[in-house]
Amino acid sequence: MPATALRLAATALLLLAALDAAHAAASDDRADERQRLTQTVAAQMRETGSATGRPALSERVTTALRQVPRHAFVPEDQRLYAYVNRPLPIGHGQTISQPYIVALMTELAQPQPDHKVLEVGTGSGYQAAVMARLVRTVYSMEIIEPLGLAARERLQTLGYRNVEVRLGDGYHGWEEHAPYDAILVTAAASHIPPPLIRQLKPGGRMVIPVGAAFLVQQLMLVEKNADGTVSTRQILPVAFVPLTGGAR
Ligand code: SAM
Repeated sequence: MPATALRLAATALLLLAALDAAHAAASDDRADERQRLTQTVAAQMRETGSATGRPALSERVTTALRQVPRHAFVPEDQRLYAYVNRPLPIGHGQTISQPYIVALMTELAQPQPDHKVLEVGTGSGYQAAVMARLVRTVYSMEIIEPLGLAARERLQTLGYRNVEVRLGDGYHGWEEHAPYDAILVTAAASHIPPPLIRQLKPGGRMVIPVGAAFLVQQLMLVEKNADGTVSTRQILPVAFVPLTGGAR
């Protein structure tokens, strides 16, 4: 074969290999499944909107849900179900929350690009990753050491440079970085932890499930007024794993 023909054949082979690699990456990325899940979540937001006060999935939260690869946050044996709108086990008796609940809590927090957010209950790190796409910094606390360590490493590997994970009891908050524009508590508390109210900025919002462990709780929106008083509103009945730790 003449040299030019050889070069052409080699270039064609390289192009085919590149296309194959791009196709493999795209199917592994599961963007289509994420797109469908986001539509399902948007539909549930509309259905529950009159109760929650948040009927629409905003453009920003829609984009974040489309971008965060939920399958990278669940154990290998749960990957098949990563884009089903339901919570999944992540080990140690804990769960990654249902995507609709992640979307709703995110919307209720009204995240802005300059915001600093505290999350109590890192779990897999998924909610922190969604929030990290919408705000300046996320500080996230996890009480179960192996979960916190794994989430920290996962978030690093996936390139989330604006999330810090700390191991410890989030009931007491993370004083060092307070006050926060928003606080998300992703485990059920028997009451709203006073340290978290103190660490919320005036004008800030906290979203927290409140109620008895292993029963139905109420997702609450807590807003801190300019004078330091708080207003609370019940949003929706939910079922979260319990907030554990020292002061319950
Ligand atoms: N946000 C998580 C995600 O996106 O995967 C899901 C959180 S899971 C429903 C609740 C998490 O809260 C668990 O990982 C649990 O270990 C953690 N947790 C419970 N009590 C806690 C506490 N006092 N401080 C910090 N984390 C706590």
